Amino acid sequence: MAKTVVVGGGIGGCAAALALHRAGADVIIYEAAPELKELGAGINVQAVAVSVLTDLGIPLEKFHAPSEGDAIFTSAVEYFTAEGFFISSEKVGLAAGASQPQLSAHRAKFHSTLLAECLRVLGQEKVILNSRFTQLESFEDHVILHFEKTTTKDPMPPVRCDFAVGADGLKSRVCRALLGDGAPRYTGRMIYRGLCEVEAIHADGCTVSLCGHENGNFICYPISEGMREKGQFLCNWGLCVLRTHPGGEEKWTSEATLEEIREELEEFGGNRFAGLTPLQLAERTEKIIGWSLFDRDPLESFDFGSVTLLGDAAHPLLPYGSQGATQAIMDAEALGVSYQNAMAKGTGIRGCVKEYSDLRCEVTGKERT
Ligand SMILES: Cc1cc2nc3c(=O)[nH]c(=O)nc-3n(C[C@H](O)[C@H](O)[C@H](O)COP(=O)(O)OP(=O)(O)OC[C@H]3O[C@@H](n4cnc5c(N)ncnc54)[C@H](O)[C@@H]3O)c2cc1C
Repeated sequence: MAKTVVVGGGIGGCAAALALHRAGADVIIYEAAPELKELGAGINVQAVAVSVLTDLGIPLEKFHAPSEGDAIFTSAVEYFTAEGFFISSEKVGLAAGASQPQLSAHRAKFHSTLLAECLRVLGQEKVILNSRFTQLESFEDHVILHFEKTTTKDPMPPVRCDFAVGADGLKSRVCRALLGDGAPRYTGRMIYRGLCEVEAIHADGCTVSLCGHENGNFICYPISEGMREKGQFLCNWGLCVLRTHPGGEEKWTSEATLEEIREELEEFGGNRFAGLTPLQLAERTEKIIGWSLFDRDPLESFDFGSVTLLGDAAHPLLPYGSQGATQAIMDAEALGVSYQNAMAKGTGIRGCVKEYSDLRCEVTGKERT
């Protein structure tokens, strides 16, 4: 059995490990984080990706039960002007007739559910934390990967494998090792995010709400089923605004202050979510994070012989429209299918990578004109 290494145990890496394992691969995950921490805030995962995960054998309840993933089944996305006038509403997930729900979840809880499944299915010894990928050497029929301990920077013994999958996110070092440094383009926008608790429910307790104008928008949605059941609202909010120069770092953990965004939040004051204006929601927020949004082009090809890329490492996405996690999970599904097909046809890892590349380039931008 070919030994497959997945670099990065984020949402895409975990989903890929599960899909490849199910397709018959012997998979090991190497993850840079030394421990699992509550990082990030809310995330939406579209129904099509939830279907992939349930097909991989994870019961929906693992994502939904308040004692586990605690995700909400999102029912709709509603749009308002900055002044609070209703524009439209669109049903999503089960409410729109899909076979699985769209999920609104805390990223850390959603990720923990996937990681727990990897630990269960692959075994504890196949999920190696504190291992930062640094470099690779690619040969005709194998790959040598180099890692260092994230905490000490001590080099680790080289890892030889038949197949390497770079799922190491937005600033992928695997991508850099294959293609060199690409220059990200500043979008002229920053995004601010926060979480706060409200003692009331908004709409049906399952709705994503957006308001805005051409220069910015405010989004909020509930991310705790447990709180929704108690008639409360764990509100994940985000404010996207124009900034002429990168106002901060491109980093999910950069802290920001309310004063940086007070005036812009006031512009959306005609809106009330669970009875509160966007500014009032932000005032209830203990920790606000804010980071600059940079854009990068998707890959022209995902085919690097016995190495490939997946998720944000392959097609970095701006944090809009529930795309980041959804597309990473769709990549994982395509990779599992390609692996299974290649093993059945006898075309090996190279056949798998070629099929996967063809499948994903079609939907991630290669065909754009
Ligand atoms: C800390 C964090 C917080 C986030 N918060 C949000 C959020 O609140 N809302 C939202 O919509 N999206 C968030 N995202 C992004 C979202 O999770 C991704 O866009 C999406 O899930 C795509 O998944 P991915 O697996 O490609 O990348 P990611 O989920 O980013 O996973 C990449 C993984 O690779 C690991 N890694 C990075 N470099 C190396 C290396 N050199 N060697 C080994 N491992 C490495 C990272 O630690 C991470 O676990 C966050 C991502 C991160 C990393």
